[in-house]
Amino acid sequence: MKSSVLIIYTGGTIGMKEDPVEGTLKPFDFSQIKEEVPELNKFNVRIDSFTFDPLIDSSDVEPSIWVQLAEIIRDHYEEYDGFVVLHGTDTMAYSASALSFMLEGLTKPVVFTGSQLPIGVPRTDGKENLISDVEIASAKDFEGHARVPEVCIYFDSQLLRGNRSTKYSAEAFNAFTSPNCPPLAEAGISIRYNTDVIRKPVYWDTMLRVQTHLDTRVAILKVHPGMTPQVMRSVIADPLTRACIIETYGSGNALTKPWFLDLIKEADHMGKILLNVTQCKSGTVNMDLYATGAGLKHVGVLSGADITTEAALGKLFSLMGRSDNNQWVKTMLEKNLCGEISK
Ligand code: ASP
Repeated sequence: MKSSVLIIYTGGTIGMKEDPVEGTLKPFDFSQIKEEVPELNKFNVRIDSFTFDPLIDSSDVEPSIWVQLAEIIRDHYEEYDGFVVLHGTDTMAYSASALSFMLEGLTKPVVFTGSQLPIGVPRTDGKENLISDVEIASAKDFEGHARVPEVCIYFDSQLLRGNRSTKYSAEAFNAFTSPNCPPLAEAGISIRYNTDVIRKPVYWDTMLRVQTHLDTRVAILKVHPGMTPQVMRSVIADPLTRACIIETYGSGNALTKPWFLDLIKEADHMGKILLNVTQCKSGTVNMDLYATGAGLKHVGVLSGADITTEAALGKLFSLMGRSDNNQWVKTMLEKNLCGEISK
C-alpha cells in the first residue's frame, strides 16, 4: 500500500522570501513551497499538509506551540505513516527535544527539517532537506514497520536524534550536530540507516499517549567567571521556579566559593530540582572527577550526564507537567527515557 506523510508547516526560513519593500525575510504559504519542489510529486507517497496560522519564525516558539504540534500528530496519527515538521532552525532542537518526551509510545517517524536558505533561492538547501525528509518519514522495513520510529532532525544529509541535537552553525548548511550520539541515518546515493542506534518500540501496537500539560517553571543558570551572588540568587532562588538547569564547565565543574555552594544549598532546601548540564558540546558530566564537581553533588545537584540543555529543558517541562512530586521527577531525570542520555 502507498505510504502517506503529513507535512506540518510551522514556518521558518525554508518557506520565506524577501519582502521587496523592507528587504527582510517573510513567510509564504505551503502551496508555494510545493511549487518550488515539484520532485515531491515523483514519490509514490500520499502527501498532505497542515499549515500553522499564523506561520511563525521559530524564535517565537512557545511550549503552547509544542502542545499544538503534539495534538496535530495525535489527531492524525492513524491516517499517516509518518510526519514531517517544517520548522525554523533557531529553536528546532528545543522543539524536537520537547516532542520526544511528549509523544510517548511513538511508533512512527516525526522528522523535523528546515533550511538555512529559503526554498525559492537557487542555492537553497531546503529542497534536498525536504525531499529526503519525506523519504525518511515514509520509509518502512521489510516487515512494514517504520524505519525510524523516533522524533528526529534531518539536515544536510544527516538524520539526528531530536533530543541529542543542537544548532551549532548560523552559517553552514550542516547547521546541526549531535556529538554524543551517532547519526540515525546518512543520505548519500541511498539513505543508510544506522539500525544499531535507532530506537524501536517494545511493542509495535503500542498506543500513542500525548502529553499536553507542561510545567515550564524552569530557569537556566550559565556559570561564568565573574558571576555575582546577586545574579545567581535571582535565577536559582526565584520562588516562581521549580527547577534550575545549571550549565557548568567541562565535566560538571563550578566554583568552590562558599557563597556559590551556599546558594545551591539554599535552593536545594527550598525544594528546587537542580540539574548539572555541561556547557561543552560533547562529553558528559561526571561529578566524581574533580572536587569542584563533587561539591555540587554533595549539596543536592543531580547529574545531567551527557544531556543537551535543549533536551534537559524539554525533559523537565514534561516530567514536572506529569507530577507535583519533585522526588519522582528527580528519579526520572536520571533515567534514559527516550535516548536523550547515554545510559
Ligand atoms: N529565524 C529562522 C527561524 O528559526 C531561522 C531559520 O529558519 O533558519 O525561524
